[in-house]
Amino acid sequence: MWKKLAVTAISVVSVGVGTAYAESSLPTVYHVYIDEHHVGMVENQAEVKSELRERLEEAEANHEGMELSYMEEVSFEEQKVLSVKDESSNVMDSLQNELTFAADVVRLYVNGEPVAHLPSEEKAEQVIESVKKEYVEEDELEEIEEGTPELPDVGETKVMDVGLSAPVTMEEDQVMLSQVHTVEEAVSRVEEGRPFPSPHSETTSFIGMMAKSQKPLVDVVLTEKERKEETIPHKVQMKKTDELFKGESEVKQEGEGGRRELLVERTYRNGEEIKEETIEKEVVKEPVKEIVLQGTKKVPSEGTGDFIWPAVGGEITSKQGKRWGRYHKGIDIAGVSDKTIKAADHGKVVEAGYRNSFGNKVVVDHGNGYETIYAHLSSIDVKKGQTVKKGEKLGVMGTTGRSTGVHLHFEIHKKGSLENPLSHVSP
Ligand SMILES: [Zn+2]
Repeated sequence: MWKKLAVTAISVVSVGVGTAYAESSLPTVYHVYIDEHHVGMVENQAEVKSELRERLEEAEANHEGMELSYMEEVSFEEQKVLSVKDESSNVMDSLQNELTFAADVVRLYVNGEPVAHLPSEEKAEQVIESVKKEYVEEDELEEIEEGTPELPDVGETKVMDVGLSAPVTMEEDQVMLSQVHTVEEAVSRVEEGRPFPSPHSETTSFIGMMAKSQKPLVDVVLTEKERKEETIPHKVQMKKTDELFKGESEVKQEGEGGRRELLVERTYRNGEEIKEETIEKEVVKEPVKEIVLQGTKKVPSEGTGDFIWPAVGGEITSKQGKRWGRYHKGIDIAGVSDKTIKAADHGKVVEAGYRNSFGNKVVVDHGNGYETIYAHLSSIDVKKGQTVKKGEKLGVMGTTGRSTGVHLHFEIHKKGSLENPLSHVSP
């Protein structure tokens, strides 16, 4: 029927002209428009609609998770005609060639600059997470997103917050399918500093496309807290005392370090530390100061007249008197475990050195008429001219000079005459 009618001479009859009977009996065609563009007429508009639907379904199948539509509007205009010219093949070609797909997207803005189009808000959130994850572990990020993480324990460091240096916003829109980015593409656009111009702003388009800065569009700002314990050094206090001779000192109280707990906050920008601050400081244990006594008493060069035993313990192995046909001028002391030889009274060293049969010998003038002699020392600790106080170390007991074993030969003289040491000292 249709085909036969098509060969008639009159091809088109205007709608609205003629009788109602004539119109209703005439065949109907549909003019197809893509936006304002007339692409042909078809007898069966359902065929076109179904083609449109299939193409869309196929595209959506190829782009999982995306809501697609056509950028262009396809419309139909009905007309009664006398003769039908079927152009469905042309129309299908036009659908193929002229239609473009549009996707519902979320446009991501960093600091007001459009950066990428993501198929969903969820994907856009993934972009932000991925940028943060360059600097923070996934489990740390999760803890932060669940709320404020608990403060670290002693010896622990914890990421407390991760943020971006500029606001990130989103806006829903529709763009051509080819302008949709993957999460990976969007992340690299943010990190490599590649914004793109808004499709609505023509002026920045060229510059925007060409611009590629080295800096990321946004910095990741991370805050961490560390709780640590450190030692508080103890102070040393010096106290003068005339109980001790000048040059002498004594620890009256041992010092001991204290301990304190610190909470330190550090801020990093793109992994680089930019700030460190101690935000809490608590003393766990106070330090104990060390007290050192320092002697002020002047060392007297004049003796007291009272002598002390010149060795540390020991016994008398030989007294003063005749011995082997000679006169033994002093006493011999031996049998000590500590071989320190001490000045018997305050005085001044008038001789310190090796002297024939005495071996290493020290002579102290006590400035009150007394002089003491110490002989056979293995080593001497004082120098001639030095003031020594009662009990000060003169040297070490030995067996230098004419000696038969380790011992101290000790003599006391008063105004040039020998005294019996045992009249003054005893072991
Ligand atoms: Zn002797």
